[in-house]
Amino acid sequence: MTGLVVSHPWFDDRFNHLAKLHADKRLPHALLLHGMSGIGKVDFATSVAQFLLCHHPQNNRPCGQCKACELNAAGSHPDLFFLQPEEAGKQLKVDQVRALNEFIYSTAQQGGYRVVILNPADSMNIASANALLKMLEEPGSDTLILLVTSKIGQLLPTIKSRCQHVECHPPVESDAIEWLMGATELDEEKARSILHINLGAPMEALAYIDKGLNEQRAQLIRGLADILKQRRTALEVAQSWGKLDIELLLGWFYSLLIDTARGAICESGDLIRQDDARNMLNAVAKKTNPVKIFKLADKVHEERRAILLRQNPNKQLLLECILLEWAALLD
Ligand SMILES: [Zn+2]
Repeated sequence: MTGLVVSHPWFDDRFNHLAKLHADKRLPHALLLHGMSGIGKVDFATSVAQFLLCHHPQNNRPCGQCKACELNAAGSHPDLFFLQPEEAGKQLKVDQVRALNEFIYSTAQQGGYRVVILNPADSMNIASANALLKMLEEPGSDTLILLVTSKIGQLLPTIKSRCQHVECHPPVESDAIEWLMGATELDEEKARSILHINLGAPMEALAYIDKGLNEQRAQLIRGLADILKQRRTALEVAQSWGKLDIELLLGWFYSLLIDTARGAICESGDLIRQDDARNMLNAVAKKTNPVKIFKLADKVHEERRAILLRQNPNKQLLLECILLEWAALLD
């Protein structure tokens, strides 16, 4: 049957462990799934939920045939509750958490588990975290709350201590490449290159392809190279980027700088993972010192944060300043 979410193979061990706990009736009522973003944690959580709700699971996976699986495939199972902020990037409101009460303390409509997937768990403020805390302390029977986060440091200790932690690791490179090739038309070399751009996170790499970000990425690399070779000024490049996603650009620029600093410290090009910019980064790494690069990387990181927090600076000016410092790396 199509429509059910499939957990990714790199989480198989984790999945089977949870299935075993379930079989032994030792599954805790709250799990905290944490690990870097873009590796498929929400798919993992959803698949676990669908497994628990399935009436006839097979080989530790949902059967895909029963009534529960049918409902899940249609995204309409009444005993699965997705809790998330009303808008991406916003906080989870305390009223949204309170609305869970009724769901958690009622009888499951299909007579089995009730499962909540809270993503991202770091979107809770103190009020909403406190509201959840009560439910974590006295959960209804046959209830599982799955909290998902890539920023575990931002969760209240009281929340963390009431969940069993499931640490989610990214796949090893060969597995990630194989998966990405299966999900796309890419050959191995291209898949590797795009994975490196996305720091090894397969879902991020897939989103990168789906959103057609290659052209934006190429403009970034071209602009940086043009400045170093004095084909264009920092001002000209900043202007040419006027319509691009600045948050995305700064994120990429930051990891390019970190790669360059690694190259400068170790004097070995092998540490530079981002193939599409390797020659340029190697050249910069050879001609400047890591302290200067880290300083610029910090600045890029800070400016990106400011943009994420909507402390809306003059983007054009901001890019220009950063690019001038990039040019100055070779002074
Ligand atoms: Zn089923």
